[in-house]
Amino acid sequence: MGREVYIDAGFDSPGVEATLVIVPEGDNAPSPMLRAEVLTGEPGVERTGIDAKRDGKVHFKVALSSAGGDRFSFKIKSNSGEEKDLPEVVETRRILFYQMIHLDHVTVSPRQLTAHLEDEFQNEGEKHFIKLVGIPPAREMVQGPGIIEKAEWNSTIVRLAGEAYSRAKDPFCFAAILVDQLAEKLTEDYDSKAEIDEMAAEFDVYAMNPLWDVGTTPAEHALNRWFLEGKFVEEDGDGRTFVIDRSRLKPRDPDPEGRAFAFTVDLSHLPQGAKGRVSFKYLVTDFTNGVSFPWCNLICVATRTHWKDRASDEIRSTLVHEAGHKVGMVPAGQTTYYVKNGRHCNHHGNKCVMFDAYHKGRSNRFCEVCTRSLRGLDLGGENPGLKPFS
Ligand SMILES: [Zn+2]
Ligand SMILES: [Zn+2]
Repeated sequence: MGREVYIDAGFDSPGVEATLVIVPEGDNAPSPMLRAEVLTGEPGVERTGIDAKRDGKVHFKVALSSAGGDRFSFKIKSNSGEEKDLPEVVETRRILFYQMIHLDHVTVSPRQLTAHLEDEFQNEGEKHFIKLVGIPPAREMVQGPGIIEKAEWNSTIVRLAGEAYSRAKDPFCFAAILVDQLAEKLTEDYDSKAEIDEMAAEFDVYAMNPLWDVGTTPAEHALNRWFLEGKFVEEDGDGRTFVIDRSRLKPRDPDPEGRAFAFTVDLSHLPQGAKGRVSFKYLVTDFTNGVSFPWCNLICVATRTHWKDRASDEIRSTLVHEAGHKVGMVPAGQTTYYVKNGRHCNHHGNKCVMFDAYHKGRSNRFCEVCTRSLRGLDLGGENPGLKPFS
């Protein structure tokens, strides 16, 4: 509906000059991004107008605040000293559309998730007053299960959204895309002293994170998807360097899903008794629960992590978090604001839903500081988080 309302003040005699005053009522948001003001002529909370048509009416155009749950009444003063309170009280509300797009193999029911999302954005007790209204996507989305790697997020997720997204409510809509798993491919290093001993020619290297894509068959295990390099450098003698190539390594005990946390190395080709350092570089899987695209109206939420289903409560927390980014959370200047992988909130030991990483103690609701910001956000205008993707 927009922020603007029109107020006509009627008088018994034509040609009057009158002033409209906005009177904020009660518990309005302390810091709305856009304040209520009379727009007729120069903006301000008070403005004088003239009955130019001499029909006994003075017209005012008023912009309400950007906040939800703000109440305003109005007072009209004529130049002859008459003053009258208008009987109407206007209360602001905000509405935002969203659509849940999910892959057919995702087992969690979107309805289990959206009830909490809508409840927390509306949260009348905290006066969030953002009414989220779900609309159906235009089409089904087609993509097999598996990890979507960070380098592919822009291309894959935007393509998936393009297949399914309904533009019916642009630009006041965002899309939440539920996928299987999200992860970043990271490089991990191993470096250790070693003494080459025939009896210990084989040894195991344990990774901090699961190895990247070891595959599910022996043929796939031999592929070079997770291995980058390996070497042994002698510390005494000639200081020779020996390459340890991929054929000397195999993933240790990979499970049926293609997950392994360690690999076994065969060092039998190295000279007996040599002392030195053995080192490896390899790729591992660093899982992410969700992502918000800062330049458009898409968020993506993982329904599984580490090849296991995430609990519904965890997914709810991620959904509220990413949707929070869409409406502009967390604004710089908020006392609990910090920047790490985006703009986040650190409140009372990382309890707030807008803390940057999910953990067991993180709430699936906004903290009291975020609540004050959320209440005042401007959902119209140039919000980059709501810009329809293309
Ligand atoms: Zn975030
Ligand atoms: Zn917070």
